[in-house]
Amino acid sequence: QPKEAGWRFDNSYTRLPHMLFSEVRPTPVRSPEIVKLNDAYAEQLGLDAGSLYSEHGTAVLAGNVIPEGTLPLAQAYAGHQFGHFTMLGDGRAILLGEHIAPDGKRVDIQWKGSGRTPYSRSGDGRATLGPMLREYLISEAMHSLGIPTTRSLAVVATGEPVYREAELPGAILVRTAASHIRVGTFQYVANWGDKEQLRQLADYTIDRHYPSCAEDNQRYLSMLREIIERQAQLIVKWQLAGFIHGVMNTDNMAISGETIDYGPCAFMDAYDEAAVFSSIDRQGRYAYRNQPGIAAWNLARLAESLLPLIHDQEDKAIELAEEALAQFGERYQSLWLAGMRAKLGLMQKHDQDHSLVNDWLALLQRHGADYTNAFLALTYNRKQTKALEQDDNYKQWLSAWHNRREQEENAAASQRLMTGSNPVIIPRNHRVEEALTAAMQGDYGVMDDLLDKLADPYELTPDKEAFCQAPEPSPIPYRTYC
Ligand code: AMP
Ligand code: MG
Ligand code: MG
Repeated sequence: QPKEAGWRFDNSYTRLPHMLFSEVRPTPVRSPEIVKLNDAYAEQLGLDAGSLYSEHGTAVLAGNVIPEGTLPLAQAYAGHQFGHFTMLGDGRAILLGEHIAPDGKRVDIQWKGSGRTPYSRSGDGRATLGPMLREYLISEAMHSLGIPTTRSLAVVATGEPVYREAELPGAILVRTAASHIRVGTFQYVANWGDKEQLRQLADYTIDRHYPSCAEDNQRYLSMLREIIERQAQLIVKWQLAGFIHGVMNTDNMAISGETIDYGPCAFMDAYDEAAVFSSIDRQGRYAYRNQPGIAAWNLARLAESLLPLIHDQEDKAIELAEEALAQFGERYQSLWLAGMRAKLGLMQKHDQDHSLVNDWLALLQRHGADYTNAFLALTYNRKQTKALEQDDNYKQWLSAWHNRREQEENAAASQRLMTGSNPVIIPRNHRVEEALTAAMQGDYGVMDDLLDKLADPYELTPDKEAFCQAPEPSPIPYRTYC
């Protein structure tokens, strides 16, 4: 029966061992107002945008009213933060429940910024408007780029101040996810639970995300392999798009293979393997080039947590887990090369392709060339930056690439492959900042326009030209904050 704007809730997470969550209700907010609603996505979810905008609909999105049939909870999890293991949990997020979309897909509906929970420690459980709008923008851009991600349904301004370095406007992001189960969720149960609880979490995960593993007589090992495969696919997509997550702690790695937790993330403009934007990542642990290695490290923490389920004999379990983990590097390398070939319009596989790609990236690195635009120039036969054009190594590389492309049998298909693999528009930092600055002054038009362009990132249309521009060089490096 559709009710409450079309919500169809289930609460399967509450049927897991109680150590995994705490029942908790959002703290009501003073005067909720929807400042951003994702109409198109609402429709996909079978939700009626008009009803969501109503007083009652808004109250639900703000956490002021708990719809019937839900059992709000905060999830418990642990995690390695910058390498240090600690107990965490949803400190400022509350899971409203799972919504079943018309296509049968089950998605978590979560409030982010909805008040304190038993896991808040010294935090206030709140979020501020700027970062919630930023998550909305970037997560939706990621989705349009074809990168698995949590989605954003709405941002609700609370009408309450939040105290950070200054008094800032409060907001709640309503986000959806295939689930919020993290590597850190398994670490938590492995550390503080027993084997039966671990098995229940793993069975739940298989049922929800990896049903094909259920038939395997090594179902938990098979699940580990599948998670490793999905992470390899995800991280390759990040690298190919120039996306830097910024805080790849094990609690910020979703078991579903979706990108989760948009804090200090950013897309790079100038290509730099060592690019870091996060103000707190002083050692560059989560730098662009480190993302695959960190993903592998996080997956090793997951594998450790699963050892008791993989085999009764520990040494045998370790052997099997190590075999599975070794697959990550191989899969990453081969998917990455396949992705780079596509960006360069290469459909055949040649032995020299790897060095062709590496030589190209070395040129971008040397000249600090804009990563997205350098590929666009190749795709649309436009000029590169002066510095690149004048480099003899570039001229040589270009002729090697042209020769290589001439060996392709189907030139039109090669061209289509390039246009489909090289985005025209990404959420560039200066554009994101511009949109957020305007929004904070009450003008959402800039953000709406940017979102509109980002929704169709692979087609070069005249209205997007302005959004392709790399930022003016700045003496102050771009910094992001959690
Ligand atoms: P993150 O760095 O976003 O992954 O957050 C790390 C942990 O800090 C998570 O357990 C969050 O729930 C918690 N946290 C972040 N901000 C707040 C806040 N304002 N109040 C309470 N907990 C928070
Ligand atoms: Mg987090
Ligand atoms: Mg966060």
